[in-house]
Order: sequence, then structure tokens, then C-alpha cells
Amino acid sequence: METTQNRHLFKRYIAQASNFEPFSLDVEKGEGIYVWDKAGKKYIDFISSICVNNVGHRHPVVLQAIEKQMQKYLHIMVYGEFIQQPQIDFAQRLCENLPPQLQKIFLLNSGSEAIDGAIKLARLQNGRGEIVSFANSYHGSTVGAISALGNEPIRHRFDPLLPHHRLARYNSLPDLEQISEKTCCVIAEVVQSGGGMVEADEAWMKKLRERCTETGALLIFDEIQSGFGRTGKLFAFEHYGVVPDILCIAKSMGGGMPIGAFVASEKLMDLLNVEHPLMGHASTFGGHPLSCAAALASLNLILGDDILPKVEEKGQRIRRHLEKIEAVKKVSGKGLFLAAHFEDEKTTARVQERCMANGLISFWLLFNHTALAITPPLTITDSEIDTAMEIFARSVEEVCLMN
Ligand code: PMP
Repeated sequence: METTQNRHLFKRYIAQASNFEPFSLDVEKGEGIYVWDKAGKKYIDFISSICVNNVGHRHPVVLQAIEKQMQKYLHIMVYGEFIQQPQIDFAQRLCENLPPQLQKIFLLNSGSEAIDGAIKLARLQNGRGEIVSFANSYHGSTVGAISALGNEPIRHRFDPLLPHHRLARYNSLPDLEQISEKTCCVIAEVVQSGGGMVEADEAWMKKLRERCTETGALLIFDEIQSGFGRTGKLFAFEHYGVVPDILCIAKSMGGGMPIGAFVASEKLMDLLNVEHPLMGHASTFGGHPLSCAAALASLNLILGDDILPKVEEKGQRIRRHLEKIEAVKKVSGKGLFLAAHFEDEKTTARVQERCMANGLISFWLLFNHTALAITPPLTITDSEIDTAMEIFARSVEEVCLMN
């Protein structure tokens, strides 16, 4: 009864921009790898709420950090004016684990804002107009970020957006020629999530970096989804030995709390602070103390012995399970940033539906409708993986019986 009424109120009052079926899960609680609905049904969150809960839901260490900070202060001042310990502590710990080119951080609230901030910083550095991004990429929903969306029909719904945008093909060496002395910045995901966990080719990555350096275009990596241990390294770019000029992060950064940021060199970042410092960039809630406290706790967990070193092996365990399922035609991705590919859209949608019915949350991908994301919390245990994959295999079997 409560759920039926809530569903009605949800549709009535909450603006929707996505298909809520087969979801409309009426949430009661989240803990570890699990989410419960109001009827008491337990689901395995096999997508970490889209790569947010890398340390699981409500990790006790994250909760403790939030509670401790809660006793001191919540919002205190717009970013930049007052010294706030949780911001410094998080920024220092993060920068200690980043290359020398990425040592100053601008704290915001979300991924889209991080992309917008990065574009503005690139503009300040070279004053050029052109933005290059890649087909099938998603960088966020603000006007700046959606200007770089890798899907023309969706982009054009919101025209006019930022001008002089060029769309290149991901992993295409010839398309890198589109980057020129007119290019302000190039925005790229290191593993494209919306496209179906498409990994960048190593040679392409190296050439992309080279081309940006030789033309003076700034290279922006969007690690909003792939960051914080998801691929088995703290950031996916570490697999390639290629460092961006600006790194955008968010999603799992806050261990379940809202926070985002862009990171660059001190020299580059200091451009925000010349001429008209007040208009460089600003955010009322950016780097909220509760979010920063949670982000530090989550980062410490990820960097500890229990998470990062085990991601690759856990990913391999999932792959071994998937290989036994005939209807799964291909598995793509890195670490625990995976996608299972099926024959066609109908099968894919049905598998997702059956997974939900059987208590496993999986999710479709923005630009690839024949694959499902498999991105569980990095804290998932081997036996939890086996249980989740048993449900996944059973759901696929049910769909095959329907056909
Ligand atoms: N970039 C990527 C790769 C993303 O997956 C997302 C969010 N799905 C964003 C940017 C935008 O982040 P946010 O929703 O926090 O604005």
C-alpha cells in the first residue's frame, strides 16, 4: 500500500528525465553491497549506484567521519575564503597519490561542475575556442558539459550550446588530426562507460597525449566514473602512463556524499586567481566539510590493503562466471568496471528486468543498449560475487526460456 502510494507521489512530484521502469524501487535502506525496499526485499547493488558506492553503502568508517565532522561545523563559507581542515586533509592525501603534474584541486559538488570548471580553466590558459570530445561520451548535464556530449541528436536538442565543438571517434588515430592549434581542450574518458566500457587503446592514448602537447591543447580526463579504484588503480589513466593536464573526478569520491573536483598543476590552477580572482570560479557548497570528511575516509579505505590490490582478481572472478553463460557474447572493461554484452536489445532489457525481479540491480548503458553494466562495490567479497553471478546466470536462463 505504502509503496503503491509512494510510486504515485513519486511520479506526481519528482521530475523525471529517465525511464523508472523496471526500477521504481521504493528504498528503505542501503548497507554494504545491499539495498532493501520498503517491502523488505533485499537487492544486491551490482552497479554501486552507478559507480558511487565504491566502498559500499554506509561504510562504517565513512559514517564515523561524517558524524565526527557533524559535531564541529557544516557549511561555513564559500570555497576559498576560510581554511577548512577536512578540505586540506582530503586534498593533501589525494595529491600525495597523484603525479607531480596534478597537485592542486578545486573542490565542487558534482561531475558536471568539474567538467565546466576544467573547460573554463583551459579557456583561461590558451584563450582558444574549440572543444574536441569523442563519440559515445557523456560528461554531464550542465550546459558546458553537455556541449561535449558524444551524441549529436541529444546535443542538438539543447542548441545553441558552446560553439566550435568537434566530435571525433574514440580510439581512431586519424581522428586525432582534428586536434589543432585552434583546440582549447580535448575531453576524454579513459574507459568509456556509456559506450559499453570501451577501453582506450594504449597507442591511441599515447598519441592523444602527444597531439595535445604538440598543438598546445589541454588534455582533460573525465575519471568521474572510472576513478577511485574502479579499474584496479586509483585512476584509470595510471594503466597507460599518460597524465592529463586536468583531471575531473566525482561520483565515488565522497563515499556516498556529493562532491566533485578538477585537479591540475599549481601553475595552471593559479590562473583562476589572477586579474579577477572573484570571477575565476566559485561554488557555495563545493568541498562541503561533511563531503570532504567522507571523501578522506573513503580514499583511505580504497588505498588500504583490502581494496585496491584485490580489484583485478575480483574482476577476473566475475569474468570467469560470465564466460560460462552462453548468451553473454562479450565482456568488456577493466577491473570492476565491466559490461556484459548480449545479442540484441530485447534480450538485454529482459535480463535487466529478470535481475531486478530476482534481487540483483544491474543497469543499462547510455549509448549501448546491448550491454549491462557490472560495477559492484569494490568491497564485494568472493562469496558475494558468486551469489550475485548465480542470480545473474539464473536471470539470463529465464530470458532464454522466454525466447
Ligand atoms: N562524466 C561521466 C563519465 C559520468 O558518468 C557522469 C555521471 N554519470 C558525469 C560526467 C556527470 O557527473 P554528475 O552527474 O555528478 O554531474
